[in-house]
Amino acid sequence: MKYCKVFLKPKKEESLLRFHPWVFSGAIQSVEGDPEEGDLVEVYGANQRFLAIGHYQIGSIAVRVLSFTPIPIDDAFWIERIRIAYELRKTLRLAGVENNNTFRLIHGEGDNLPGLVIDMYAHTAVMQAHSVGMHYARHQIAEALKAVLGDTLQNIYYKSEATLPYKANLGSEDGYLFGGEVEDIAIENGLKFCVDWQKGQKTGFFVDQRENRSLLEHYAKDRSVLNMFCYTGGFSFYAMRGGAKVVHSVDSSAKAISLTKKNVELNFPGDPRHEAYAEDAFKYLEKMGSNYDLIILDPPAFAKHKNVLRNALQGYRKLNAIAFEKIKPGGILFTFSCSQVVSKENFRLAVFSAAAQSGRSVRILHQLTQPADHPVNIYHPEGEYLKGLVLYVE
Ligand code: SAH
Repeated sequence: MKYCKVFLKPKKEESLLRFHPWVFSGAIQSVEGDPEEGDLVEVYGANQRFLAIGHYQIGSIAVRVLSFTPIPIDDAFWIERIRIAYELRKTLRLAGVENNNTFRLIHGEGDNLPGLVIDMYAHTAVMQAHSVGMHYARHQIAEALKAVLGDTLQNIYYKSEATLPYKANLGSEDGYLFGGEVEDIAIENGLKFCVDWQKGQKTGFFVDQRENRSLLEHYAKDRSVLNMFCYTGGFSFYAMRGGAKVVHSVDSSAKAISLTKKNVELNFPGDPRHEAYAEDAFKYLEKMGSNYDLIILDPPAFAKHKNVLRNALQGYRKLNAIAFEKIKPGGILFTFSCSQVVSKENFRLAVFSAAAQSGRSVRILHQLTQPADHPVNIYHPEGEYLKGLVLYVE
């Protein structure tokens, strides 16, 4: 197969030699051939040295690297990458076990497949392409998934309308690439979840909070819990299983609240400890009393771009300040940021200043991050995005 070639400017090969999986457009000297967005291209450095092969893109990231050695990107390639990822999830005891069938199978750069996300919910894979190259490869990827997962896999739902570059104008429509209409019950650490991958946010569920929810369960006994930004109610069921006295789930989306209620019924039918409210977070926090002694704040990404970082940090500060002010003495606060552009240090600073504002004595019990099925490629530190703190408030 003959590919178009991308030649880098002198000295711009450093990052690829250190296995960083992106080529920025500013690093390119010339392009041989006339690649279209989504095509496979080869990248060369000085003296015609082969550096990488990857998907060509229009934008500031010009190539997303699939391999640093000159191998064919064929069926065997996709099978091998997915096989390696699946083996890792088995090693993590997330796949092929009885009490869990919900995990991230492919986490982009973290699984050496930049631009691709695949989450597994029982027998359904939800595939999300973030690049045109991955969009073009979707059928090959679907075949590879079938080959690796065998009978475990009954449906593949492709959900990329919202994640593909808008300007590429691909007219991609969400839908099944394999199987079809099902309502699969996902199991996470023995708890059941109804996942709405068609209409829900992201791939339908926030798999990345699994371990943090487990930790919460450990602290829930006899506590009054507020799960703010609850979405499908993840943290709430762990709190209930952990023996919480009451659990209140709040989200501004009525759809999220109805999913939460459905999931409560699946796990704890008729349990009077749980109540759910469709309300804005700030409104609820302002008017609530000081009855909670375990609060979870897991807001959506306040900053999606660097230029709104300041506002985002203010947002985190304000949100946490109300929680510090109102949480009962001896209370525990689980607070998160999933904004990739907000660094761990910045998030900590925002939470610190909120704590100082409240004048309460606050100690850090745990520093949390994303779980192992969202691995961070050591050569791509940008892959780290989830940050959390568990705080003890006197
Ligand atoms: N904690 C959840 C994930 C939270 S995602 C889990 O474990 O699955 C963020 C949620 O915040 C979304 O469900 C979104 O509907 C909700 N949200 C966004 N803005 C909000 C606001 N102003 N007030 C309350 N909820 C909000």
